Amino acid sequence: METLPLWINGKPYTPQSAEYVDVVNPATGELIARQVDANESDISAAVSAAQRALDSWASKLPGERARILFACASALRDNIEDLARIESVNTGRPIREMRAQMRRVPEFFEYYAGVALTLAGGDSLVVPGTFQGGYQRIPLGVVGLLAPFNHPLMITAKKLSAALSAGNTAILKPSEYTPLSAFRLAELFQQAGLPSGALNVVTGQGSTTGKLLVGHRAIRKIDVTGSEATGRAIAQQAGYNLKRVTCELGGKGAAIFFDDCNLDDAVSNALYAVFIGSGQTCIQAARLLVQRSLYPAFVNQFANRVRALRVGDPMNPTTQLGPVISERQRQRILGMISEAVQSGARLIAGGKSIQGQGFFLEPTVFVDVDPGSRLGQEEVFGPVVSIMPFDDWTDAVKIANDTRYGLGMSVWTSDLKRALQTRDALDCGIVWVNDHHRTEPSLPWNGFKASGLGTECGIDGYLSYTLTQTTILNYSGERFGWFDSTDQPLRLN
Ligand code: NAD
Repeated sequence: METLPLWINGKPYTPQSAEYVDVVNPATGELIARQVDANESDISAAVSAAQRALDSWASKLPGERARILFACASALRDNIEDLARIESVNTGRPIREMRAQMRRVPEFFEYYAGVALTLAGGDSLVVPGTFQGGYQRIPLGVVGLLAPFNHPLMITAKKLSAALSAGNTAILKPSEYTPLSAFRLAELFQQAGLPSGALNVVTGQGSTTGKLLVGHRAIRKIDVTGSEATGRAIAQQAGYNLKRVTCELGGKGAAIFFDDCNLDDAVSNALYAVFIGSGQTCIQAARLLVQRSLYPAFVNQFANRVRALRVGDPMNPTTQLGPVISERQRQRILGMISEAVQSGARLIAGGKSIQGQGFFLEPTVFVDVDPGSRLGQEEVFGPVVSIMPFDDWTDAVKIANDTRYGLGMSVWTSDLKRALQTRDALDCGIVWVNDHHRTEPSLPWNGFKASGLGTECGIDGYLSYTLTQTTILNYSGERFGWFDSTDQPLRLN
């Protein structure tokens, strides 16, 4: 069994902490590695390395930073199969999903290489009077990146690509459930020419290592993807320390199917919106809203297709659903299922654990769910979905928005007018029309309401990793003389 080192200053680092946390393959329940629960002294070593690397990384010409980011992207692209296998073993997600996801990861580094070339520096502005105004963008400094377990590398890529492209150096803490791929990424980037110390990896639990990272005075920003509770705790701690923070948090997504949808296509699209990652995605369509005339046939066909999904060994390329991440999570989901049944929701498929090794659960479908119940409101983060009927688009929007979250929702119809009317009324950060899950490095990604704070991806994501320093230059050459006399109507500010 492998003991993971920390990765500090471009190489493996022997930790000071003697505490370890197990890493388990969720498909078998077997121990596959152990990781250090990094302590204060380990975090200080990582911060020092990142500080030492900062000046030279931040002062590189944008073209040079971009070339290194392109090289990092190529290194990822050359290792897609290896990375997909690591992700699959550690997350339990089917290898087919992880291969597809790994193909997109390099794109974030390529996009932000381009952004560095385009936006680094600043701008000069004409201001009224004899003034020349301008500003330069400068990096924040050392930043802390906290990743979740469900898309370990893809979410790391979103954060790290923006942070590095803007000239920051980073300390990455992967989820304690899925630390394996972070080390492979660090090794690959080192070989690709990323300077030592620009990326450091520390492992450990959120309640120990994560908290220490957030509390470290020299870290200028924390960028976390995780649950609402984690986001609230981190934003509070970071706020007290006047540290910048981006939080990408949970959701209670919906997919809205209008009655002009072809039934077969609608069912197939709904399966995709719900069950990727065994439902462990922040944008999961946890609620399928189906227009009333389509509803009975949809429910029937959807439940049949769900019963036929192939749940099993993630390394088998024909597997469609893997396990959930841990026994603890499986028990939490089973608890929510039995509570929903007791509160009157009707279970029409699944609902039970799958016996044997690993943390498998049957894909589960509910109808007649009280929208105000725990199942109607809370993020399950598992292979569980509620199907609800609606009458018209205003009704659909009312149900969809009736949650404290506001992350991603999809609208399915060939009527563009209705799609965009619905989009305009949805209170969430991402709306897909006739798609779901799609993400683009160039498009802002953010949650409304309790789904987050700040924005990732796109230009906004880049700017969130910069400070602006303004210069105002007076070229009149004339004496100003505010205190020379009091009878001149001079400008004050
Ligand atoms: P989590 O909140 O348990 O952990 C996320 C990360 O934060 C981990 O690295 C963890 O160790 C760390 N952490 C936890 N508590 C901390 C604390 N008090 N201080 C510092 N660090 C702390 O999340 P998870 O279970 O790994 O991921 C699932 C959650 O992430 C779901 O709620 C999901 O919706 C959300 N998510 C959101 C997005 C998005 O883009 N909005 C994407 C993926 C996942």
